[in-house]
Amino acid sequence: MKILVLGGAGYIGSHTVYRLIEEGNEVVIFDNLETGHIEAVHPQAVFYKGDLRNRAEIDSVLDKETDIDAVIHFAANSLVGESMVKPLKYYDNNLCGTKVLLESLVAHGVDKVVFSSTAATYGEPQHTPILETDPSNPTNCYGETKKAMERMFYWTNVAHGLRFVSLRYFNACGAHISGSIGEAHNPETHLIPIILQAAQGVRDHISVFGTDYPTPDGTCIRDYIHVTDLAQAHILAVKHLMNGGESDIFNLGNGVGFSVKEVIETAREVTGKEIKVVYEDRRAGDPAVLIASSDKAKEKLGWKPEFDSLPTIIETAWRWHSTHPHGYSE
Ligand code: UDP
Repeated sequence: MKILVLGGAGYIGSHTVYRLIEEGNEVVIFDNLETGHIEAVHPQAVFYKGDLRNRAEIDSVLDKETDIDAVIHFAANSLVGESMVKPLKYYDNNLCGTKVLLESLVAHGVDKVVFSSTAATYGEPQHTPILETDPSNPTNCYGETKKAMERMFYWTNVAHGLRFVSLRYFNACGAHISGSIGEAHNPETHLIPIILQAAQGVRDHISVFGTDYPTPDGTCIRDYIHVTDLAQAHILAVKHLMNGGESDIFNLGNGVGFSVKEVIETAREVTGKEIKVVYEDRRAGDPAVLIASSDKAKEKLGWKPEFDSLPTIIETAWRWHSTHPHGYSE
């Protein structure tokens, strides 16, 4: 297959590109490198630097790369906290970017897209684990823009026959088994990288946001899913569309929740390091518990997570962080 990966220099995008190439596919990447890293681009991928909001830039790639089988779309901003203070940045990049993309794809006759959605589309869940059919009432602007993206794809499918798979990730984490690519955001806001930076002394401590949630230890519970397992799900979703499968939405998680305190404790065990903790107030927009039911992805896509234990996930992340203490800048 020949796949165009938008945002292929980012965290989940780069891991998906590695997996696609490991499985013998041809990959073209389009990324504005705003949050992605050129060092994360697989050497066998064709790379174009460009921004999705610029129609001419995405058009010129599709004019040149005429035989794209499907698109995987990761190019978006994805931080809950940031989206609460800069909502218009999220509307601009996530929604205006996707609108321009869809116009260009329709014009070029590309009709299969797999894209990143999120558990944040659900908001505060009605029950656990969360099913794809559950109500979607986002509590943060990031989730709101992803929900709107899903609807944009839905109506584009109705009008133009462009089929899509939306993958609602729970908490992506871990790193490629080789330790050569991993998670590197600047500034870093995600729990596991920050815990590991505290373990290696790159930062003084981990701040725990909120200890008064209605959970057994008072800290938020999340479903942590390895980035390579997410990558595999994207490839299976592309195959689903290539085989004539209908547009659909799938949750991707392990179906098991860990509290912030449990993640810190596991990281202490895996790394053997002291990790200093400072307790702080809640962060705006965080639901108390998010745990996925991924039965639908397992049944319909044949997805089977490989790296499904928290110690294994943290071990792979530690391999990356301990060799790249300052991310890709080293
Ligand atoms: N969290 C925390 N301290 C941090 C970063 C995150 O306590 O420095 C908590 C956050 O409030 C949430 C969980 O860890 O409950 C996971 O947050 P993350 O930002 O990694 O992912 P999100 O769930 O927002 O997608």
